[in-house]
Amino acid sequence: RPRVVMTVRSSNAVSGAASILTKLQRDCATPLPVLRHVADAMTADMRAGLQADGGSDLKMILSYVDALPTGNEKGLFYALDLGGTNFRVLRVQLGGKDERVIATEFEQVSIPQDLMFGTSEELFDFIASGLAKFALKEAGKFHLPKGRTRELGFTFSFPVKQTSIDSGILIKWTKGFAVSGTAGKDVVACLNEAMIRQGLNMRVSALVNDAVGTLAGAQYWDDDVMVAVILGTGTNACYVECVGAIPKLNSPPSTSAKTIVSTEWGAFSNGLPLSEFDREMDSESINPGEQIFEKTISGMYLGEIARRVLLRMAKDARLFGDSVPEKLQMPFSLRTPDICAIQQDSSKEFEHVGSILYDVAGENSNLSVRKIVIDVCDTIAKRGGRLAGAGIVGILQKMEEDSKGVVFGKRTVVAMDGGLYEHYPQYRKYLQDAVTELLGPDISKNIVIEHSKDGSGIGAALLAATNSMYPH
Ligand code: BGC
Ligand code: MG
Repeated sequence: RPRVVMTVRSSNAVSGAASILTKLQRDCATPLPVLRHVADAMTADMRAGLQADGGSDLKMILSYVDALPTGNEKGLFYALDLGGTNFRVLRVQLGGKDERVIATEFEQVSIPQDLMFGTSEELFDFIASGLAKFALKEAGKFHLPKGRTRELGFTFSFPVKQTSIDSGILIKWTKGFAVSGTAGKDVVACLNEAMIRQGLNMRVSALVNDAVGTLAGAQYWDDDVMVAVILGTGTNACYVECVGAIPKLNSPPSTSAKTIVSTEWGAFSNGLPLSEFDREMDSESINPGEQIFEKTISGMYLGEIARRVLLRMAKDARLFGDSVPEKLQMPFSLRTPDICAIQQDSSKEFEHVGSILYDVAGENSNLSVRKIVIDVCDTIAKRGGRLAGAGIVGILQKMEEDSKGVVFGKRTVVAMDGGLYEHYPQYRKYLQDAVTELLGPDISKNIVIEHSKDGSGIGAALLAATNSMYPH
């Protein structure tokens, strides 16, 4: 008898959860007309942001990178990458045209949670001390000529109002950072002061966004790279723009010079298919109303959206039994790597899904429950990947409109980086599908979407070299 009761209850739970799932799928659907609308709105927002500061959700930030690395760069350069859960330090010995990259070495340090909520000095002191320790270990193939100051490319992956290639003011923190006293300040000055406090003789010669670093790093190997996209904890995209097509720069439209523009597309919000779970997550976030595209497509949030859906299923349909699992009530307890792992399970009984669910819900789950959970993850990854693809098409079509056939008519490479893109095959496929659907087979065969692993670190070091104070 008890067994029968159990089965009846769990089948009610499953049908209750299934109807929550159906509604989610409806709210998150991205059929072609939705994708097209997003791509067109992205193009329009780009134009508005290029027209005037504050003209659009997209800041369209000037990077001051108007000379890309040529391959002739020589010498020892450092890079520092601060942007998500980790910070990375890197050194590269560049050998010029023939030898290119002679050697690289890097170290990665995870950022203690409390530093993300501390003061600006604490954060920058921590970074500068990591950098100082790393610089001490310079040996072997790495060589700094006597008397020369070390030069650093600083990849700072937050919205910065760049004031020159080596200075810029933090507009706001994103991705869960809430460090006090940095917004409105020059982040290069913050780092330089901390390096002085650490007694480290190093100077920032280039301040770059991670998307910009990725574009520079990928271009170094492949001239056809025109766009770079980060899909990691957060998201952003940048591209090569004609100086004459930036009205807010007030330069003559005839100039043929090129520069990199960072879109800060994470702030895009036009016409996105959102569910009640997205709205709740946003309103409870530390930056409500901001970074809506980022909250819909990037790694920091996908797991959290799924958690909110499962929590609703637990509360309203008792998907995990009579009580609502405690861990499931904890914000961010389900992470994007978890939902990615859920989607990788190809076993017949979805055992791995079962063990992940056991971990978050403390309950044994049956096959129908597991299938529902997989569908929830898939719905969220699919929407994210497809919207990211639509965003990419928005950028490409803007470039195509201005260049009359040059972008779509020949091989054009979009360099991709970030943990979400790197580790989530379904997401990657959904992104590519959307690009192909939007552009059609003839054009999309010219568009190469390619992973450029850790391009942003090398890219920043290269830009430090390009902007070195020492003559080449
Ligand atoms: C930031 C961007 C950054 C992106 C990827 C976003 O939250 O606003 O500046 O490029 O994350 O790291
Ligand atoms: Mg990064």
